[in-house]
Amino acid sequence: MIELLELQKLDLRIAALKENEREMPKQKDKYAIRRKRLEEEIKNSEERCKRLLLEQRECNGDIEARQAQIAKYDEQLYTVKKNEEYKALLHEMDLLKKQIAVKEERVITLMIEHDEAKAAFEADKERIEGEMRVLDEECAKIDEELQELKAERKALVKSRPPVAEKVEKPLLAKYERIRKVRTPAVVPMKEEVCGGCFMAVRPQIVNEIIANDKTHTCQHCGRLLYHPGNIGDAAASAAIEST
Ligand SMILES: [Zn+2]
Repeated sequence: MIELLELQKLDLRIAALKENEREMPKQKDKYAIRRKRLEEEIKNSEERCKRLLLEQRECNGDIEARQAQIAKYDEQLYTVKKNEEYKALLHEMDLLKKQIAVKEERVITLMIEHDEAKAAFEADKERIEGEMRVLDEECAKIDEELQELKAERKALVKSRPPVAEKVEKPLLAKYERIRKVRTPAVVPMKEEVCGGCFMAVRPQIVNEIIANDKTHTCQHCGRLLYHPGNIGDAAASAAIEST
């Protein structure tokens, strides 16, 4: 029984490592999602700057076009004969000048907005890059831990056959069968109750388990039962710790 408990302890440790290996990449996935959000945030911040610059450029282009039109009208002023045409041209020029003034005001607003957006972008960038560095470090840590877990598990798996060999063949076969459906497969009987399902063990069987001349499984959950008093103190505490 002690040999089997040793084996179970090993198997439980291997299972725990496997579980960690399964769970840890999920944390990395969470970090990846967070990273993507940060990337989007910085992109939005940058795009706002670009949009404001683009509108500024468009406004300046509009202003230049209107100035060119004014210059053209200005030359035409010398060639028109009729007073009405002259007046009409002046009116057009006046209109264009007013439009230019509006656009110029817009350019000033855009410049201020762009300065603010740029400052915000720089601040965002610094903050986000800092957060990303932390995420990268966390991911690297996870990778490192995963490597360690894998190495530990492989070593344990390698060390398993000699431990299993010490267990009597029929008991080992039973254990292998049970552990496919119940973990842990071997449990202590405490106060005449199965340590796995906490159901009462039949008195006759309790006596046989205590007498330690036969191995028994719990009639309710099918786990192998043992009496902690039948194994050494160290083995008992190790077994309890692993259940
Ligand atoms: Zn049971």
